[in-house]
Amino acid sequence: RSLEETESKEIKPGILGFLRYKEIKEDDILDLIEELRVELLEDDVSLEVTDKILDDLRKELVGKKISRKENLEDLVKNSLKKSLREILSKNYSNIDIFQISKDKKPFVIVFFGVNGVGKTTTIAKFAYLLKKNGLSVIIAASDTFRAAAQEQLAYHASKLEVPLVRGKYGGDPASVAFDAIQSAKSRNIDVVLIDTAGRMHTDKDLTEELRRVVRIAKPNMKILVLDSLAGNDALAQAEYFEKNIGYDAVILTKVDADAKGGVALSLAYKLGKPVIFVGMGQDYDSLIKFNPDWFADRLVS
Ligand code: GDP
Repeated sequence: RSLEETESKEIKPGILGFLRYKEIKEDDILDLIEELRVELLEDDVSLEVTDKILDDLRKELVGKKISRKENLEDLVKNSLKKSLREILSKNYSNIDIFQISKDKKPFVIVFFGVNGVGKTTTIAKFAYLLKKNGLSVIIAASDTFRAAAQEQLAYHASKLEVPLVRGKYGGDPASVAFDAIQSAKSRNIDVVLIDTAGRMHTDKDLTEELRRVVRIAKPNMKILVLDSLAGNDALAQAEYFEKNIGYDAVILTKVDADAKGGVALSLAYKLGKPVIFVGMGQDYDSLIKFNPDWFADRLVS
């Protein structure tokens, strides 16, 4: 009798193990992978990044033993989050722009971006953040081509109580930048924010104009503003600016209006430059420091 008991004790876990656990096979997740592929591509995630995500998922799931109590959906979610976090962290930089700005005076930042991406709004938000961090700011309205851009900056500058240097319509953008830097020096201002023109990114004159602004202003940092809603166009814009002018970091706007987030994934993976802030709305305080974990969790909720 005691022998029977021993035997049953030894056999039981094996039998129950067979009942309780299931190993995930490639076949089990084929449909899931295909559905996810369609979803990712529809969300503007580039082909390369989509393949990477699905590959990560396959590696993470196939061969894994799951108990019947475990939820496959949770497992997929967590694996997906892990992959997205890794992609979004690829060129992540945790620079403290407010600290860096204190080290060199005046700290000069030039903003680039195609019209409509949210560049002017972003400069205003940036000025607001700098002021909140105890830094003084001056803005150079170096898009002398677009009257609306000058007006818009004048509106923000007066609301934020930040000085603004404007140019004559059609005037030299580089000399507006130069004047603002001179003014910062004489008034002991910490940071100069330079707006630039963004008409058609294929415009040859524009390329020359922006290069000239960079030559004259000698910025400590060049920030490219990209629109999260622009799809794969955002990637093309980044490539243009990298090839023709060069930049150090990206601010991605309108993330609040983009449920998909595919552009962020493609940019983070492909550019080799960090996304440092994201625009999350129209208010001045809606410029948020980019955080890969937060972003990944937001995409897979
Ligand atoms: P610019 O032509 O690049 O200077 O673009 P603007 O700064 O004029 O912005 C274009 C539009 O995008 C405006 O209506 C802004 O209010 C809007 N915008 C800018 N940033 C954001 C953002 O982070 N979220 C949302 N929802 N709208 C934004």
